[in-house]
Amino acid sequence: MSHKHFCDVVGHAWECDGMALRPLTGYTEASLCVCGTCQVPMEFGDHSGCMIELLACPEHMDEQLRQMGYEPGTDNMPSNEDSGTTMLTDDDGNPIVGFCLWCDMDFYSIEEAEAHNANDSAACPVFQQLKDGQCMPPVLQPMLEGAGVPDDDDSGEEPDGKR
Ligand SMILES: [Zn+2]
Ligand SMILES: [Zn+2]
Ligand SMILES: [Zn+2]
Ligand SMILES: [Zn+2]
Repeated sequence: MSHKHFCDVVGHAWECDGMALRPLTGYTEASLCVCGTCQVPMEFGDHSGCMIELLACPEHMDEQLRQMGYEPGTDNMPSNEDSGTTMLTDDDGNPIVGFCLWCDMDFYSIEEAEAHNANDSAACPVFQQLKDGQCMPPVLQPMLEGAGVPDDDDSGEEPDGKR
């Protein structure tokens, strides 16, 4: 399903098929469009009543970048490092790749995260303590209770959406 963006370079709406280039965020490849109102990917559901994301269309993107002082096709482009908007950080502002839903430990590399989650999260003290009694991470509980998500009984696997 396609959705619309509004190109603010010259002011027109344009159709998008679910992925769009957002060089201003530092990404050089197309990224998934997420509805700013519902916080779910635009591919899912009906967003006809939602906010339209302001985004330069592919035709005018270069023009917008030049207006902002960048030069498409050269090194003079926004980079991930200085945007920082999509990056997770710990309490001190250091970049992290994720955190443990159980013990809230910060991971500074994928390896660290994998090691922590390996062998049924053997390295996680909170998970080891709670796994027999409770069946969901304490961090997620308030969110899930509010959303009324049904229990899925015997799947011990955590959904792996991290890649
Ligand atoms: Zn889009
Ligand atoms: Zn929406
Ligand atoms: Zn345009
Ligand atoms: Zn943990």
